[in-house]
Amino acid sequence: MNTITLIPETKPIKKLHIPNWLNNCLIGDQNDSHNSLICRSFNFANTLHQGQYRKSGEPYIAHPVAVAELLRDLGGDSEMIAAGFLHDVVEDTDITPDEIEALFGANVRQLVEAVTKLSKYNFSSKTERQAENFRRMFVAMAQDIRVIVVKLADRLHNMRTLEFLSPEKQVLIAEETKEIFAPLANRLGIWHFKWELEDLSFKYLNPIAYNKIKSLVSERRKDREARINNVVDIINQGLEKLNIKPVEVKGRPKHLYGIYHKMERQNKEFDQIYDVAGVRVIVNTNDECYRTLAVIHDAFRPIPNRFKDYIGLPKPNLYQSLHTTVVNSNGKPLEIQIRTLEMHHIAEFGIAAHWKYKEAGNSNNTHLSSDEEKFTWLRQLLDWQKDLKDAQEYVDNLKENLFDDDVYAFTPKGEVIPLTRGATVVDFAYRIHSEVGNHMKGARINGKWCPLDQSIKNGDIVEIITSNNSHPSLDWLNFVVTPSAKNRIRQWYKRSHRDENIARGKELLEKELGKSGLESLLKSDTMQKVAQKCNFVKVDDLLASLGYGEVTCMQVINRLREENKQQQPEIKPLTLGETPLATTATKTYKEINGNKYPICGIEGLMYHIAGCCRPLPGENIIGVVTNVRGISIHHHDCPNLSTIPGERLIPVSWNPCNGKSRNATYPVDIVIETIDRVGILRDILGRLTDQNINVSNAGVKTDFGKPALISLTIDIQDSSQFQYVINQIKNMSDVLNIRRISEVSGIN
Ligand code: MN
Repeated sequence: MNTITLIPETKPIKKLHIPNWLNNCLIGDQNDSHNSLICRSFNFANTLHQGQYRKSGEPYIAHPVAVAELLRDLGGDSEMIAAGFLHDVVEDTDITPDEIEALFGANVRQLVEAVTKLSKYNFSSKTERQAENFRRMFVAMAQDIRVIVVKLADRLHNMRTLEFLSPEKQVLIAEETKEIFAPLANRLGIWHFKWELEDLSFKYLNPIAYNKIKSLVSERRKDREARINNVVDIINQGLEKLNIKPVEVKGRPKHLYGIYHKMERQNKEFDQIYDVAGVRVIVNTNDECYRTLAVIHDAFRPIPNRFKDYIGLPKPNLYQSLHTTVVNSNGKPLEIQIRTLEMHHIAEFGIAAHWKYKEAGNSNNTHLSSDEEKFTWLRQLLDWQKDLKDAQEYVDNLKENLFDDDVYAFTPKGEVIPLTRGATVVDFAYRIHSEVGNHMKGARINGKWCPLDQSIKNGDIVEIITSNNSHPSLDWLNFVVTPSAKNRIRQWYKRSHRDENIARGKELLEKELGKSGLESLLKSDTMQKVAQKCNFVKVDDLLASLGYGEVTCMQVINRLREENKQQQPEIKPLTLGETPLATTATKTYKEINGNKYPICGIEGLMYHIAGCCRPLPGENIIGVVTNVRGISIHHHDCPNLSTIPGERLIPVSWNPCNGKSRNATYPVDIVIETIDRVGILRDILGRLTDQNINVSNAGVKTDFGKPALISLTIDIQDSSQFQYVINQIKNMSDVLNIRRISEVSGIN
């Protein structure tokens, strides 16, 4: 969506403006490798985009030039600037990544390829898709953080030229920018990009509010500037007395979206919020920062609880500064920031400050491994994406990390641990290490014992007490707030209950296959092959997974059957016995219209679906002649069939067009084993409603500290729908196991 190419028909063709810096490169020394890469990539892109135009009527190359310029202004190296020129050529021309590598090297290729891929991801799509796209983006970022910076520059220029797109596209792109790219710029600390991305999306998403605030800000400019200048003078006089020579004391306009956000958050009118401009003091040393603070608090009355020391406690994006709000001489609050020049560079340019302000002679440091290490939140996202299977959970986790205000807590050794607001001591323990969480016995906050569900406040010193004999409890899931803690507790449960799960897996197989011969079957080569076919190393792994509900009995039995087919056909002995009880209503041919009789092989006969196994269309079935109720239709694998004499069995099958043409449904009983938490039944029923599945019966059985058992009767059209629905529920993060109950009385 960033590639907007067409031959302008209505708009006049504008001439390309070549900025001075680029011109200087073009006429400069081509033996200089930096110069040469920039010139070659520009000329290459310029030739390729020849004849393509932006919707604005500009030659297309104006966009890559603008992107390259943004990257250059950020201090990007020649590879980044080259990627800026080339970022759209793979998408819009016939050039392949291989050709780019041959001409400009592997790094430029990788940047261009990754940015091209990012453009194809749609971050506003359905949750599952969205999560996948985020994953890919973070993987690309981890390989080379410069990818996302190029992408942000691309997005910024597209936002600057958004007026030329249709109103629908404007809103879509602005929304994505506000939701994803502005927070990313913020997380990377590139304030520079962040505020402009926010203001531009604000302009398109809420034009009325945008224009109103814009005019209010400019209306009061004179007034405000006079007030600010007065404050600046007072600060300057105070600093002079202490012999501090500031780099700069200056009024600082706030960006429009920032003002709007504050009005919304505090539910206040424009005139009621803290001044729409603040003051920034830049000095030379940390020490001077604190002394400046003293000067300011001496001259003006500080507002309590508004002082923040981000020098002592830097934000995760490395931002450092002192913040305070004081009451101005006219009684209005005024925000003041105090920082050193180096802190200021990081505040403005974030990660890019390291490129822009790196020391001379150190210019080969393009891999930035040390910078990346500092961005621990990025690492965490990557770690978590490995073990978060549930898409919604991943997106929640991501949003939590992009947006939430952090709480900072300390270990007893003084190490700072950033946490999500509301995080408990258990979250803290898991943040330190999963083993600390898994063996946590108790915790002390500021030296005092506290309950495990105690949430942590800013500045708390948290000490976790562990013991080898302590283990997580499932009810921790009711109060932990970080997805990673939740996930690790679940994983622990899964691992530690392996023996139980293996036993349950065996039990399930026994139910289906009968006890005799099961043990020897489990030890057979056939079973080993089945395990491998299901992607497990050992039969025990397969059983554990069966017990845990990751694979179903039917899957195992189908695999077994496939294996057996190659060896010998499986024949079950049939003996005399009673016909099983039926629960569904008996239907006759006349009740069903036309020739769409649901069962082939017994056309016109009275039949009913056996209540013991409740087969679904799509599953193999067998008819049983009963004494009084016509034909009873059983699942091919129904254990009750083994008690029925062969002469009473009739081969039948489902009419393939049955389900589609009649929308008939069949009741199926399932039992879901889940983590016991508030709202889980509602969530499961919600998923079913999403699939348009009717639930005719629901029951919940809970036992404190143990998983909850939810039994449901659901109305299903056929086996493929059933499989789909089961997978939907199984994918929910709190669901441990799900079983189809093949006997009416099977739920205890
Ligand atoms: Mn582009």
